[in-house]
Amino acid sequence: QTETITFEMLNGLSKRSFPLCMRYLHEQMIQQHHLKHLGRLQYRLFLKGIGLSLDECMKFFRHEFVTNGSMNPAQFEREHVYNIRHAYGQEGKHTSYTPYSCMKIIQDPPPGVNEHHGCPYKHWDSATLKHRLAKDYDINEETINDILDKTKQHHYQIACQIYFEYQHKVKNYGVGINHPNQYFHESRKLLT
Ligand code: SF4
Repeated sequence: QTETITFEMLNGLSKRSFPLCMRYLHEQMIQQHHLKHLGRLQYRLFLKGIGLSLDECMKFFRHEFVTNGSMNPAQFEREHVYNIRHAYGQEGKHTSYTPYSCMKIIQDPPPGVNEHHGCPYKHWDSATLKHRLAKDYDINEETINDILDKTKQHHYQIACQIYFEYQHKVKNYGVGINHPNQYFHESRKLLT
């Protein structure tokens, strides 16, 4: 049975069930009320993949950009409504766009200044990763060291799995992480 997800649930879900790439994008969105193009693409398709309806996705972006942010409603209509509908296959060629896999996120161009897309294990330098895992996400030192070891060996998805196991208090879970939506799915299996 799949959950009905509303945009108000995203704050809680992002802490419990999102992989770090999406948790970070969510946080940037609600802190800055803005997200640059590539971050929006990565995050929006993930949200679609977890089952957030087009209607709820629209509400979420409008809530952050217009209600909480400084964008005027006309600008939102002009610049964002079409793109959100497009991601859901409701505009243009009505293509249903697939949420990005880890491989794609890891191999795509890295985030530039003020951009927040990408895979933290690949795209953040060790000091930033270490600092954020400790200070923002309250991960213990032993786990952080394990994660850093894996990122140094370029095993980004294994680093992600260590984060998953820590967050869900499981050991040797045995399911490799290859897609942010699969991470979410596995998480919900354990938590619901
Ligand atoms: Fe996201 Fe995949 Fe990187 Fe995990 S390994 S943070 S799911 S891109």
